[in-house]
Amino acid sequence: MCGIVGYIGKRPAYPILIKGLHRLEYRGYDSAGVALINDQNELTVLKTKGKVADLERYAESKDTSGTIGIAHTRWATHGEPNDRNAHPHYSQSKNLAIIHNGIIENYAVLKTALQKEGFTFQSDTDTEVLVQLIEYVQQNNHCDLCQAVQLALQEVIGAYAIAVIERGNPDLIIAARKSSPLVVGIGEDEFFLASDATPIVEYTHEVVYLEDEEVAIIERNKPLKIVNFKNVEKPLHIKTLEMSISQLEKGGYPHFMLKEIYEQPRTIIDCIRGRINPEGTDVILSGVLDHQEKFLHANRIIIVACGTSWHAGLIGEHLIEDLCRIPVEVEYASEFRYRHPIVRPDDIVIAISQSGETADTLAAVEIARKAGAFIYGICNVIGSSIPRATDSGSYIHVGPEIGVASTKAFTGQVTVLAMLALTIGKLRGSIEPERYHQLIRQLQLIPQKMKTVLGLSDQLADLSKIFTYAHNFIYLGRGYNYPVALEGALKLKEISYIHAEGYPAAEMKHGPIALIDNEMPVIAIATTDSVYEKTISNIQEIKARHGRVVALVTEGNHDVAAMADHVIEIPQVDECLMPLVVSIPLQMLAYYIAINKNRNVDQPRNLAKSVTVE
Ligand code: GLU
Repeated sequence: MCGIVGYIGKRPAYPILIKGLHRLEYRGYDSAGVALINDQNELTVLKTKGKVADLERYAESKDTSGTIGIAHTRWATHGEPNDRNAHPHYSQSKNLAIIHNGIIENYAVLKTALQKEGFTFQSDTDTEVLVQLIEYVQQNNHCDLCQAVQLALQEVIGAYAIAVIERGNPDLIIAARKSSPLVVGIGEDEFFLASDATPIVEYTHEVVYLEDEEVAIIERNKPLKIVNFKNVEKPLHIKTLEMSISQLEKGGYPHFMLKEIYEQPRTIIDCIRGRINPEGTDVILSGVLDHQEKFLHANRIIIVACGTSWHAGLIGEHLIEDLCRIPVEVEYASEFRYRHPIVRPDDIVIAISQSGETADTLAAVEIARKAGAFIYGICNVIGSSIPRATDSGSYIHVGPEIGVASTKAFTGQVTVLAMLALTIGKLRGSIEPERYHQLIRQLQLIPQKMKTVLGLSDQLADLSKIFTYAHNFIYLGRGYNYPVALEGALKLKEISYIHAEGYPAAEMKHGPIALIDNEMPVIAIATTDSVYEKTISNIQEIKARHGRVVALVTEGNHDVAAMADHVIEIPQVDECLMPLVVSIPLQMLAYYIAINKNRNVDQPRNLAKSVTVE
């Protein structure tokens, strides 16, 4: 789930590994470590709980020489985050060192069997079981490291990206993956390895993404070789990275999250670029148009996603039902996959994931595939697992999102869903031509409206000071703005650790209204739309119970100001595109409150960016 970096070549490995770990810090982790082989062929593991900077301090007085090494940031799944459980893990003889992302599901059975063979364990992790198994296989079969990894992995159930190095073998890294991403960068007389391309891009743009059940033999001064578990050689698909190093840096902002919030006017332009014709009269979403028949005859659309992507999915439900008149269900991928769901061949399943690696969403895609549904992916990371596992799809093209709390990916997902609904709506004739054209015009104006709301930052920073010490928040919205309320509450929870709940505004009186008193801040989205009057009644209900209301209203609305404690004015937008604009002040409010509380907004505690474990 967390970060892997590897290097073999002509340069000292340690600085490259540390820099790579820093580049992966955005993913969220709890400990870090590195394994190196020095000129005397000794294999050293250095690891510690905490941040990469803690590892650097710890390693200051140690031998960090060598031109081959592997490094890891751990997001604990098996065993608490402490020094012992940090990766890399040695094998029993200390001949091997492994790093691992993911989960070995059958680790307990394997561990018991290995204990019977006399193996002892230094950690509580599933990962250590794997390295011991590799050593056991190697000793019993008298085989080389690559074969031992191939044989051992055939015994393993679970998800993994691993890298292994061996004492006395300073020319070789063996890496393998299943359901957890791994990419090899090809330089001049050197190779890089990482769990995503961010640590690699400053050295080379030539990369190979490993597929499931592939093993990379990364050997000094030899061409890269990829084989499967049966040692059959696989063709090398070398891809060119389009990412630039400046996209990975903060560009003058104090945090990635703030940078990404401010990037949104541009990322939406990137997202719609080439997907609206030059005359501005048609949406051309090739992922849909290339499979028109499927969309024309779809009986139902099921959206599967997790977290913020699930909120985008809820907005997608409104858009598609509204503009295409196809029934839509939005499912938590983690529930869908274990629920024995009914999926039919004439269903379309849309899988949404920023990273394209979300384990539960990927598993939901597999279920949909087995049921014969047509599968459409909406992802950000190019070449990631979900786009590769789906029949068609659209990238959101918002560039690398480094802040753990999603911002620009959310608006990118909603933008793609809007274009998808417009495309299908036109195909099926379910949208009036006039509304179709009006929405396309509005969509093109969104970046400008986003710029306007970004101008509210001072007002939001001031407001954040009033609420920094609140213990709870309620976010309310209706219709298109209900998922925005959920997303606003999630942002606040994620980065400020304040408890916050989003509700459909009218649902308040069925229970949550009991929570309202004069200490409860209520963020009410009351922009001018088809449910505006209803929302106003809900605000009155809150005020009657002395709740403290911050209302988000459409520019020029003075009625709400009379009842709310604070008002934030948002530019007028058609209601079905309103989430794109109204979510930004909520992102900023969460950001400023978290900053006031001195939180680590880019790497909030316990969270990981790319959730590759279920
Ligand atoms: N399951 C392993 C552990 O708990 C790996 C976690 C990770 O992906 O970082 O150590």
